[in-house]
Amino acid sequence: MITEYIVVNEEAPDGEVIRRAGRIIRDGGLVAFPTETVYGLGGDALNPSSSRKIYEAKGRPSDNPLIVHICRWEDVAPIVSEIPPQAVILAEVFWPGPLTMILKKNDRVPKETTGGLDTVAIRFPSDKVAQALIAASGGYIAAPSANRSGRPSPTLARYCLEDLDGRVEMILDGGQVGGLESTIIDLTQEEPVILRPGFITKEMLEEVLDAVEEDRAVIDPDSGIAPKAPGMKYKHYAPRGELMIFKGERDKVVAGINQAAAREMAAGKKTGVICTDETEQQYKADSVKSTGCRGDDKSTARELFRILREFDDEGIERIYSESFDEGYLGKAIMNRLMKAAGHKVIDLGRAEGAFQTS
Ligand code: AMP
Ligand code: MG
Repeated sequence: MITEYIVVNEEAPDGEVIRRAGRIIRDGGLVAFPTETVYGLGGDALNPSSSRKIYEAKGRPSDNPLIVHICRWEDVAPIVSEIPPQAVILAEVFWPGPLTMILKKNDRVPKETTGGLDTVAIRFPSDKVAQALIAASGGYIAAPSANRSGRPSPTLARYCLEDLDGRVEMILDGGQVGGLESTIIDLTQEEPVILRPGFITKEMLEEVLDAVEEDRAVIDPDSGIAPKAPGMKYKHYAPRGELMIFKGERDKVVAGINQAAAREMAAGKKTGVICTDETEQQYKADSVKSTGCRGDDKSTARELFRILREFDDEGIERIYSESFDEGYLGKAIMNRLMKAAGHKVIDLGRAEGAFQTS
């Protein structure tokens, strides 16, 4: 398959290109497209063969359900068996935007799309290209992130091309996107439960809902409890190099990372550091990259995955990252970074001076 790569205007995509892309999806093909979170690998959500193709192109285990993307609130009712009152409120406040709701599906949604579950994940993205494409495709696009399974989520179209060239019919390049996936909230239980932290925080949800719980498995990844969002159990966003996170006081983190990097470089390894503008000048490694100012969560969310990709391109074998747990997106960002690192954290606050790498 030849993959067509088209640059589109982010705000006003060419109608002819969108019609062609929509036709591909209606005909059962796949198109990678921008959303405000990450690039999506889209197929017709109501066509079981399209969903199978998505799993194949992505190399994703088929028990990991897909999010169905819509472009109008009215399109929820035709694919679910009931609409709980919280869904109406959340849609009113947060849609279009990075919030995914889990609802009980009806027979129109094939099990291939939901990984065999009786529930369906639905999101109404705010990205203009995504909205136009969804409308042109018949209203329902199933889309996971447009990366090969286990690779960092793509924030630029050229990363989709790297991972999916020859596996999808078309890639729409709408520039750089936000970087952090949608918050997932399950509305099929008695109380709403956050299954994946994201751009819409628990505090924001609590402002409009009476009570919001968090999936235990997400709060405490070492609890041994299986996460309710099947995808959360996989090691996601993994860079090729080994990643380790350093926590603690700034000076100690800098010293700790430099020491670890020096040892690995002496052993012939290529090292990379993920840091912030405040500390960038203080590191000695083969490649040092800043996510922006410390505390600028949006910049961190956007730059983090790009940096991990760049380290892959540069052949970095050992990656050391500062920790990013403050700020309103801290929980969501650290959830992603911890997964990328396979939960390897050196806490310099606790184990003072005595850290072991490798
Ligand atoms: P991605 O497409 O890579 O953003 O991942 C989608 C996430 O949504 C995965 O973690 C899925 O497990 C989760 N998800 C999708 N549908 C459901 C569902 N019906 N119930 C629970 N989690 C879901
Ligand atoms: Mg993903």
